[in-house]
Amino acid sequence: MQRILVTGGAGFVGSHLCDRLVERGADVLCLDNFYTGSKTNIAHLIGKTSFELMRHDVCWPLYVEVDRIFNLACPASPIHYQTDPVQTTKTSVHGAINMLGLAKRVKARILQASTSEVYGDPSVHPQPEGYWGNVNPVGVRSCYDEGKRCAETLFFDYHRQHGLSIKVMRIFNTYGPRMHPQDGRVVSNFIVQALRGQDLTIYGDGLQTRSFCYVDDLVEGMLRLMDSPEGFTGPINIGNPGEFTMLELAEMVIRLTGSKSKLCFEPLPHDDPKQRRPDISLAKSTLDWEPKVALEDGLKETIAYFRTIV
Ligand code: NAD
Ligand code: UDP
Ligand code: UDP
Repeated sequence: MQRILVTGGAGFVGSHLCDRLVERGADVLCLDNFYTGSKTNIAHLIGKTSFELMRHDVCWPLYVEVDRIFNLACPASPIHYQTDPVQTTKTSVHGAINMLGLAKRVKARILQASTSEVYGDPSVHPQPEGYWGNVNPVGVRSCYDEGKRCAETLFFDYHRQHGLSIKVMRIFNTYGPRMHPQDGRVVSNFIVQALRGQDLTIYGDGLQTRSFCYVDDLVEGMLRLMDSPEGFTGPINIGNPGEFTMLELAEMVIRLTGSKSKLCFEPLPHDDPKQRRPDISLAKSTLDWEPKVALEDGLKETIAYFRTIV
């Protein structure tokens, strides 16, 4: 039985990953400090003998014995990672150092949940892994972007210097059930606003684009990456190449919820990327992975979830 550590396991993506790992028969240690995650996300797993929950902050050393580590601990939504930006950088950097140190000691394979934010406000479109990005090092998003970039550096240096088995995954915008209703990300905001009959808040002119991946597709890509051959490190993009403006997303959410909500316009946050779409050729060729869930179908599932909690 494989012993698998999932840091950030009580978060949105982490909880879906824990579900899949438990289903596959792994022995799962879910670690979280509950900064943005919640026990309700993994409540249904508590009590299973193959699942263990541990409250811990990855900024502190951790001594456990495991075979594989999925390092997801880090707030992911702009409002949360900007609330305590110093802590965000510490989580990415000190967290990576501790988890890499742990992986080195126990000879575990370790996967890093990196992000499309390493490309910043990209001038190459769509973004291939070879693009080095256009990131502001001193802006309000830098704690997250530069923290994640530094974590990638640490992963590759532990790989080169200590021979660690690493996998670096660049996750593009992901959505689905268990997103926090107040985490400020666009999909959850729009759905919650539509269900409450409130105006949907479009930041800027709404012509900026994002590519949205349903969480089940993402977790499948994550598992395939972890299981990929020893020499394959990534970085690898995992996301859905379908690209939508925020106006198109808002119209789709209003239609699918049957809401009477209108749109309202608010200022664009600083350094908000204008466009984002993954080039997933590498994931297709090396992992035989591509997303299966269309935005409309994934939104229906997500709306059904939010109807139960809003
Ligand atoms: P989330 O906020 O729901 O989950 C993050 C989890 O990490 C939470 O449970 C939180 O409590 C925990 N955490 C935060 N700081 C911690 C610390 N210091 N020690 C221990 N636990 C800590 O976000 P998510 O969307 O599930 O994102 C998971 C990972 O995927 C993150 O690393 C994020 O950067 C990455 N990612 C997500 C997306 C996306 O669209 N969801 C996109 C790119 C990258
Ligand atoms: N570490 C950890 N668990 C372990 C081994 C190491 O949390 O099982 C931490 C340790 O506290 C250290 C970090 O990981 O701060 C990096 O470890 P490494 O061995 O690479 O560096 P060193 O201990 O030599 O500074
Ligand atoms: N956004 C928006 N209204 C909202 C929340 C976000 O128009 O209520 C926009 C935001 O400005 C950005 C896009 O939606 O251009 C995606 O934002 P999110 O915070 O979900 O993710 P990220 O910017 O990190 O990709």
